[in-house]
Amino acid sequence: MNAQYDAVVVGAGFAGITAARDLVDQGRSVVVLEAGTRIGGRTYARPFAGYEHITAELGGSWVNRELQPAVRQEIERYGSQLVEDLPCENAVFFSAGQRRAFPVPAAELADLERVIGHMRDVSKRIAPSQRLSSQPIRDLDISAEDFIAPLDLGPATRELFYATVAWYTGAEPTKVSVLGTLAQIAGFGHSPFGFYGALTERFVGGAGTLLDAIVRDSGLEIRLEHTVASVDVRDGEVTVRTISNDTVRARSCVVAVPTNVLRNIAFTPSLPPEKSRFLTKNHLGRAYKPSMLVRNIPRRSFAFGSGKLQALCLGYEYEDGSCLIMGFGDENSVADPTSREELEAAVREYYPDADVIAVDAHDWNSDPLFDGTYRIDRPGEAYDFLRAMNVPEGPVVFAGTDIDDSIWRIWIEGAISSGHRAAGAVSRLLHSRTGT
Ligand SMILES: Cc1cc2nc3c(=O)[nH]c(=O)nc-3n(C[C@H](O)[C@H](O)[C@H](O)COP(=O)(O)OP(=O)(O)OC[C@H]3O[C@@H](n4cnc5c(N)ncnc54)[C@H](O)[C@@H]3O)c2cc1C
Repeated sequence: MNAQYDAVVVGAGFAGITAARDLVDQGRSVVVLEAGTRIGGRTYARPFAGYEHITAELGGSWVNRELQPAVRQEIERYGSQLVEDLPCENAVFFSAGQRRAFPVPAAELADLERVIGHMRDVSKRIAPSQRLSSQPIRDLDISAEDFIAPLDLGPATRELFYATVAWYTGAEPTKVSVLGTLAQIAGFGHSPFGFYGALTERFVGGAGTLLDAIVRDSGLEIRLEHTVASVDVRDGEVTVRTISNDTVRARSCVVAVPTNVLRNIAFTPSLPPEKSRFLTKNHLGRAYKPSMLVRNIPRRSFAFGSGKLQALCLGYEYEDGSCLIMGFGDENSVADPTSREELEAAVREYYPDADVIAVDAHDWNSDPLFDGTYRIDRPGEAYDFLRAMNVPEGPVVFAGTDIDDSIWRIWIEGAISSGHRAAGAVSRLLHSRTGT
């Protein structure tokens, strides 16, 4: 078999593009196969439906250059422009069925303090700079419910804890492993408040502008609408076949697709049980992130709590008094993330006078190329999943934010880091074979 490329990369999100670019930087020949009609995967910005002058960011958008070194490096290399969030001046909370100026009733203040302290203290067992699966933290791979059980919290505080987990995971909070949430708190400098104030920068025009710059600069060869159906390894080389029967032969392969759709690719030889046992069923992350153009809410506002949507974050304020807000909800929050009426009812739980003028959203959960948002594990699965997926299968290396073994897993930072790591693994493999 004659390989056409040093590497074939499957999936043109941040992980796949970073891996491909790193390999091109090293003088390797690379082709990227992407199933969709665009690059960027779970980062996706487009003109807001009906309001073309507004950019709706329907997937990943917030970053922090100080906390996220891989993102910072790319921004500096390509000179990306960022915009800082407007600082919050008005916060409103919803807990125990009630809108509040303070998160919980006075009688539960001590409970609130205890749960925040518990999250902070336990997160200190996680070293931010080390691989998660190399740390002795398997005992933290437990349900959120078990995590707070010893605290005996009051109802409003318990609801706010679950709202935090649901906002971060986009999943039914009692069902998920709390390990990822704790690792994230470690990433925020061991501060649970990081969920509210750590990631405050966005790319002007959306995160895809960075990817466009990477592709332009590196001259990457990307084939859109090439859905990979199979990856066959024979005699140490890889044949990748698309659903239209196009084939690419390469010395190595980086598979950088969301883990919920990995099972749509047939591997020969089959993936070992350590990996396949995690891939037969979906992970739990099924968030909604509707963008909403609204009127009649307080200036510079932020809302959080156990309403249908767990958080309402300000995007932009406009001169006519309207503003763009992004809602975050778990899988049970709304039936239709593009229903103006449904979202207006959800926003009014926090702001009773609000008018939702228009909405835009992408339903990642029903999109067959994603089948969910970002990987959220069941209790007892997070730790072992990371260990298993970061082991290459011969010349096939896996990548993507879902398998990033760091505190920034599930973010753009995690996708970029995972891409670097995959390119490093491919590079070592090619070097060991050819000495170059
Ligand atoms: C609603 C939402 C909000 C988010 N908010 C933030 C945020 O504010 N900040 C942040 O840092 N992160 C955020 N994220 C996460 C961030 O977007 C992701 O971590 C990151 O974009 C994932 O990159 P990736 O390369 O791992 O995967 P993806 O971007 O999903 O790329 C995988 C690619 O594989 C393609 N593919 C799938 N199957 C096949 C196949 N068979 N053949 C070929 N190609 C295939 C897909 O089309 C896709 O383009 C958010 C994500 C979502 C969904």
